[in-house]
Amino acid sequence: MKNYKKLAEIQHDITQGNLSCVDLVKSHLEVIQEKNTLLNVFLSIYDQEALQRAQDIDHKIKNGTAGKLAGLVVGLKDVICYQNHPLQASSKILDGFVSQFSATVVERLLAEDAIIIGRQNCDEFAMGSTNENSAFGPTRNAANPEHVPGGSSGASAVSVQANMCQVSLGSDTGGSVRQPAAFCGIYGLKPTYSRISRYGLIAYASSFDCIGIFGKSVEDVALVLEVIAGADEVDSTASQKTVPSYSNSLTFEQKTKVAYLKESVDSEAIQPEIRQAMKDKIAFLQAQGHTVEAIDFPLLEYILPTYYILTTAEASSNLSRYDGIRYGFRSKEVEDLERLYKKTRSEAFGKDVQRRIMLGTFVLSASYYDAYYTKAQKVRRVIKEATDKVFENYDFWLMPTAPTTAFKLGSFSADPLQMFLADLFTVQANVVGIPGIAIPCGEDNAGLPVGLQILANNFQEEKLLAFAKYLNY
Ligand code: GLN
Repeated sequence: MKNYKKLAEIQHDITQGNLSCVDLVKSHLEVIQEKNTLLNVFLSIYDQEALQRAQDIDHKIKNGTAGKLAGLVVGLKDVICYQNHPLQASSKILDGFVSQFSATVVERLLAEDAIIIGRQNCDEFAMGSTNENSAFGPTRNAANPEHVPGGSSGASAVSVQANMCQVSLGSDTGGSVRQPAAFCGIYGLKPTYSRISRYGLIAYASSFDCIGIFGKSVEDVALVLEVIAGADEVDSTASQKTVPSYSNSLTFEQKTKVAYLKESVDSEAIQPEIRQAMKDKIAFLQAQGHTVEAIDFPLLEYILPTYYILTTAEASSNLSRYDGIRYGFRSKEVEDLERLYKKTRSEAFGKDVQRRIMLGTFVLSASYYDAYYTKAQKVRRVIKEATDKVFENYDFWLMPTAPTTAFKLGSFSADPLQMFLADLFTVQANVVGIPGIAIPCGEDNAGLPVGLQILANNFQEEKLLAFAKYLNY
């Protein structure tokens, strides 16, 4: 079957009578069957259920009662609740856990007749940049299985890259949607913090966490965003702002002002093909009469430490609920309650999660709280104010999504700090809450996808999506 770039083309073929939802689900299931063993993308495949739903939606289409996502086959990162379906955050600690309710995003997708095809691998509790920190083993990049797909939502990106589904939902706390999208050559949107309800998203760092969308086209991303975004009575942090019709405003005509960091074009630390992609986009924009200017952002070096201090602090608190009593796994040889907690958590959390819980507990401890946590909160504010200043003068900020294309599996196993550094460009959007989208920009010399990222000011998704489409001429 054709690899459809857009749901609109799928729906067109369905209306013409050349395609049905059942055909679509079957063809995605075939790809999954063929590739899942090697790529390790799906932890659960809801084949029977998806086929049944496809049949029901085919009927609705015939009766003219189908929702606007009819024909959209979606995958969910293993951190998003789907009632009566397994959920583990790719961790042993949630062994056997089944969701008792659905996330708001899932309910909204289902209400518009999307079909959910399965649960996707990720880094444990969404902590990581390679999808190697999973209790279920690493996911591999479909462009080259020796390479990682990025993370933490690596498998959600690969599933779209390899046409195992049309769209996936992931989560982005510091780049986990945009970076794997770049590594896999697709689009990945992290919306403004609070644009999408977090109800039913397993928490990593609650003041950073955002549900994000992977797609093969800006059109699909825009359509899914307009369905899932918006106020939610069970998440008081979700914004009350009206949700524009993103999919109907994808034409970009005005002249615009774009900023970029000088280093992102000059620095040797950035892979040459990525710098070249930056130069090409800048040249294109200038040729079209837009203003593109290099800016300085002296606070750049403080963004990563701020991110890692605050996210580990929030994670240590959020993950304290996994105690061996309430959910999933419980250690067997236990004599008393305290040992039960300790043994359960030592046996069932992976190395990286343990490291972050310890770091987070340390920065929150009475003697170090002011030196690290309070200080990082203040720096977060300063970074936010400096970022606001950039957007007083510019509409968009263009930058690499990551300094390199997808690395080989195992590249950072000896030195996790180096992996943290690779998040340099993605964490800023989460530290300050603004939206960002990764767009595919060709391939490097080894045939691995190159991605760039566009950032915009808070709640500017409408402009951002239109500009992303325009820039990907
Ligand atoms: N790589 C970053 C981290 O490990 C981002 C993760 C994410 O966005 N969930 O924290």
